[in-house]
Amino acid sequence: MTSFNDFGLAEPITRALAEEKYVTPTPIQIDAIPLVLAGRDVVGIAQTGTGKTAAFALPILNRLATNRKPLEKKSPRILVLSPTRELSGQILDSFRTYGRYVRIQSALVIGGVPMGRQVRDLLNGLDVLVATPGRLLDLLRSNGVRLNQVEVLVLDEADRMLDMGFIHDIRTIIAKLPKERQTLLFSATMPREIADLAADMLRNPARVAVTPVASTTELVEQRIILIDKSAKPALLVETLRNEPIERTLVFTRTKHGADKVVRALHHAGLSAEAIHGNKSQNQRERVLAAFREGRVRTLVATDIAARGIDVDGISHVINYDLPNIPESYVHRIGRTARAGATGVAISFCDNDEMPFLRDIEKLIQIALPRTERRTSPRSEPSPHHRPQQNAGRNGRNGNRRNGQQQPRSGNGHNGNRHNSQQQRRPEQAHQGEQRRDHRPAPAAASSPENIGTVAFMRQPQARGPQSGAPNRNAR
Ligand code: AMP
Repeated sequence: MTSFNDFGLAEPITRALAEEKYVTPTPIQIDAIPLVLAGRDVVGIAQTGTGKTAAFALPILNRLATNRKPLEKKSPRILVLSPTRELSGQILDSFRTYGRYVRIQSALVIGGVPMGRQVRDLLNGLDVLVATPGRLLDLLRSNGVRLNQVEVLVLDEADRMLDMGFIHDIRTIIAKLPKERQTLLFSATMPREIADLAADMLRNPARVAVTPVASTTELVEQRIILIDKSAKPALLVETLRNEPIERTLVFTRTKHGADKVVRALHHAGLSAEAIHGNKSQNQRERVLAAFREGRVRTLVATDIAARGIDVDGISHVINYDLPNIPESYVHRIGRTARAGATGVAISFCDNDEMPFLRDIEKLIQIALPRTERRTSPRSEPSPHHRPQQNAGRNGRNGNRRNGQQQPRSGNGHNGNRHNSQQQRRPEQAHQGEQRRDHRPAPAAASSPENIGTVAFMRQPQARGPQSGAPNRNAR
């Protein structure tokens, strides 16, 4: 399967894909599209950036193109649930882009904007409705929408919906759907509640999996700069000035932190905008549009706000704060290196964040290259992972050629390091720590030992819902 023509999709869809310059399907598309076309329920383990939106949107559009039906009032034929307003908007855009020659009626139902227009959009029925769960429930209760005509349900980023407390809403919504339907569930991880949901809601689902949670999309160069907390603002300014940045996403742990960073950048004469949950929907859309169009090169975001931001050409991700949940690190750096591009992830780590760094390295099973710039480094306990052989030196595609995945243990946290080709010795990776003087080191460290890569690896076999992805709710 090397071309989109091999799927037998309707001509109006392949025409749109050709115009979008989609030539080669991604692994999740290769696996999922034939299954969805065949009418199977599917559980897909995949993160954003793997092409999963097209993996469900294309076969759904094919159904709509080849099986036209009169629309019923207030009723969608296809319902897509997603956790955030931004992601919902992007999913709808994808349907409209790939379906531009299919003539579909589609609409968005999200919170934070007036309900009246959404009620009007629904009045005459829809082919595709993309919704966040809270607003959809409001509309259900006010009789603005009926769900008894839904033929296909998609739950996208199901684990994030769980994190955001939507699981109960989702169950309420699903109870209103016809029993006879096709259900597709996509999730980056498979915590127990999502596995249970899948077991309850899907019929004999096929399972497809393309990225273990511990790997990232394609190839991301990763660097850690150990730095005093107080020196982070200056380091950020220095990094933004020195790095060959096209677009950068800067992550902070808190909304307040994001605003503070933006103020510091403005103070230094750099343009930047923040995006987080305290901003109105209008503000968020304005900022995202400016970022997409290149008018703002630096976007400062919190994890939740950034989830699902689908902007191509993010050359750098900067972790101003390290996340305390290691999986968030993987999600964050996956914002760059999308659709085969390369990207750089630079993480600032202060003394207090050293435990977070160790958790991240434990999860991804790579000792990340570090540059020491703290004035008073706190002595570290020896790394808990056993020495590994160097993988990064094999060339950037070395792992790919091997066709093997990063070794992981059952719970994804304690590697059973049997695959020596994928690994590197922490002491090699940490050569940057040799630098003990207090002069500033170049932020854009470019020597090979300062570049770590995580290769995207296709899972050799589909994994079951409980096949070992860490259960973040157990935390
Ligand atoms: P997603 O994982 O759905 O968020 O997709 C990530 C990005 O990859 C989006 O910008 C898509 O437009 C792009 N994309 C998806 N599939 C392909 C493909 N087969 N070829 C090129 N780009 C793609």
